[in-house]
Amino acid sequence: MNRLKGKVAVITGGALGLGRATAIRMAEEGAAVAITDVLTKEANDLVDELLARDLQACSWVLDVSREDEVKRVLAEVAKRFGRIDILVNNAGVSGANKPTDQLTEAEWDHVQAINVKGVFFGVKHVIPHLRRAGGGSIINLSSIYGLVSAPDVPPYHASKGAVRMMTKTDALLYAKEKIRVNSIHPGFILTPMVEGFVRELGDEAANRVAIDALHPLGHIGEPDDIAWGCVYLASDEAKFVTGAELVIDGGYTAR
Ligand code: NAD
Repeated sequence: MNRLKGKVAVITGGALGLGRATAIRMAEEGAAVAITDVLTKEANDLVDELLARDLQACSWVLDVSREDEVKRVLAEVAKRFGRIDILVNNAGVSGANKPTDQLTEAEWDHVQAINVKGVFFGVKHVIPHLRRAGGGSIINLSSIYGLVSAPDVPPYHASKGAVRMMTKTDALLYAKEKIRVNSIHPGFILTPMVEGFVRELGDEAANRVAIDALHPLGHIGEPDDIAWGCVYLASDEAKFVTGAELVIDGGYTAR
């Protein structure tokens, strides 16, 4: 309790999956959370759930691939809650699952616009707010696929590699201003994104077993496994941590 007391956190893609779990855990730890997403109803429902528990939350409709929207929503959050201390760049899509030689330019660009440019816009426009707060924490959702690869979803793997390196560059650029920037690298976590991916592959039950087996701990992860990592990186417990890769993957990349 109270690990984030007095802080204001913005979470992109906060309505479902990892963003939703992170919003809940951050609010429980005392943060005021701005839940931003393209899904209005789901974001509003989550806010209602948190307010009913006397936690602090508000929602905004935000497509992270739109720079004007990112800038405006961050300004509105700062106005509503008085400051911004934390940005979780979580919104992401898996995109087309085709080999590279069959991908269209539009399929490639769609994934980069959300997963890479969305992170760029988030960092660019949150920096003035974090400066005003005297420092802060930016958490970028990369993936195990920002560290190693797999023979599928080429635009996705490229995007997560980019996010890993953008994190380190920004960690160095803003360290003197006490703005920490770290990436999180989840293994497979059971969220709507992974449920959709498993469904697309066909035999759902067999694919779940195969995905479990990819992780030395023997099973897929759950959203809270990542949410607690976000809470840690956002909190003052991580005050000496910047440019780091927090791998939460059940041992996937240890092989
Ligand atoms: P998800 O699809 O379950 O949820 C993503 C959320 O982002 C949704 O609420 C969606 O509406 C929102 N979103 C999508 N496009 C958006 C846009 N343009 N602007 C704003 N919001 C948008 O995904 P998830 O599994 O919770 O993944 C969250 C992040 O973690 C992603 O960046 C993903 O790449 C990364 N990640 C997930 C896993 C996993 O196994 N689930 C593993 C590694 C990395």
